Amino acid sequence: MKIAVVGTGYVGLVTGTCFAEVGIDVTCIDIDVKKIDNLKQGILPIYEPGLEKMVLRNVEKERLHFSTDLATAIQGCNAAFIAVGTPPGEDGSADLKYVLGVAREIGRSMTDYLVVVTKSTVPVGTAKKVKQAVQEELDARGSDLTFDVASNPEFLKEGAAIDDFLKPDRIVVGIESERAEELMRKLYKPFLLNGHPIIFMDVPSAEMTKYAANSMLATKISFMNDIANLCEIMGADVNMVRRGIGSDSRIGNKFIYPGIGYGGSCFPKDVKALIKTAEENGYEMQILKSVESVNENQKSVLFNKVKKHFNGDLAGKTFALWGLSFKPKTDDMREAPSLVIIEKLLEAGCKVKAYDPVAMQEASHIVGDKIEYTKDAYEAIIDADALLVITEWPEFRSPNFQVIGRLIRNKVVFDGRNIYEAKELMDLGFAYYGIGVQDVQ
Ligand code: NAD
Repeated sequence: MKIAVVGTGYVGLVTGTCFAEVGIDVTCIDIDVKKIDNLKQGILPIYEPGLEKMVLRNVEKERLHFSTDLATAIQGCNAAFIAVGTPPGEDGSADLKYVLGVAREIGRSMTDYLVVVTKSTVPVGTAKKVKQAVQEELDARGSDLTFDVASNPEFLKEGAAIDDFLKPDRIVVGIESERAEELMRKLYKPFLLNGHPIIFMDVPSAEMTKYAANSMLATKISFMNDIANLCEIMGADVNMVRRGIGSDSRIGNKFIYPGIGYGGSCFPKDVKALIKTAEENGYEMQILKSVESVNENQKSVLFNKVKKHFNGDLAGKTFALWGLSFKPKTDDMREAPSLVIIEKLLEAGCKVKAYDPVAMQEASHIVGDKIEYTKDAYEAIIDADALLVITEWPEFRSPNFQVIGRLIRNKVVFDGRNIYEAKELMDLGFAYYGIGVQDVQ
């Protein structure tokens, strides 16, 4: 089996590498020449646990190749996966120019029957456009080659992407022909051996499944953040409420952690895109509109607590930030809540000292030298007026509060992820602010 994966970002690189890992001949293609040159030298564009080793192993075994030349790489392939970005356009709808551009290139260069698989997150109806784009190019060449389209949305989580791909909760595939179904089943067979299900369906349903999944998860987060904010007002503790409701098997205990808002490359853009798709088709996604607005507000919650604690007098103060990435175990800074908090602190005339185990380089591309990056977590705290926990990296979970107490100017912790026990900090003389819990001053 031979496949091409077009777009070598978080999804494309993980997809290509995992397919190579089970013995398939894979070429990962990208238009970013530097990215491909680096990958050829074993330098990865992203941080993802376990990925580097797996890439190197499969390159060495000559099952994984990198190229900028789609026309050559696609020759003799059974399938071409499109895994390029689908960023939001100005109106919030998914911008399909990269996906359709690749589809056209495939049409121009394919040499045999193949299945064109869309792995990027795309609105319902995109497979039709992909099909049309490929066909138009074939017609322009006067070619009578045949192909099928399939939709195979990706559900991997950054930070756990390898495991998610190798041991998926489920694989969703939208198909239009038995031939495509057979090929997709064969490709994914190695990942199904331990009972992981592959769910075949029609193409529009597969396309919708991805948006419905991400929107549902975003809804859980915003719902919990709304409950957390009300808990604070009413004197309740959301940590208790979370345990109380999570133990109900109909609700479950995953994804009901309050915090400082969801971010990343997927939830914000996919929620927006689904709202837009509905709007374009005369329907209003009322719940998702609220999910979005709750999330926007939530990104300011921690800053508002800081402002209140210091009676609005923030100019000249220094704040230590632990964590920058939108979630742990990734260096992805896209739509990270840290960016909103940093902007607000800088606007208020504060100095920011930040530490993140892997995302500082990525953050520096966005924030530049407007903040100071420190070599470890404790250095960020020296002479800070307070500590703000932004990302719940494991290494922040059990810090030495005695040391923190000695290094920090004011013993104040703003815990944006509820990773600490208020009582423990109170006993050590800290003021503690969490999300959805009572302040301890
Ligand atoms: P990314 O930005 O990390 O990577 C996209 C890559 O595509 C880039 O390297 C870019 O250079 C390349 N590219 C653009 N145009 C190209 C072209 N014409 N030919 C070849 N390469 C081209 O994006 P990502 O995070 O991997 O996301 C890709 C898609 O997968 C998006 O639709 C996203 O919504 C979806 N998705 C992402 C995740 C995630 O966690 N990141 C999870 C599931 C689904």
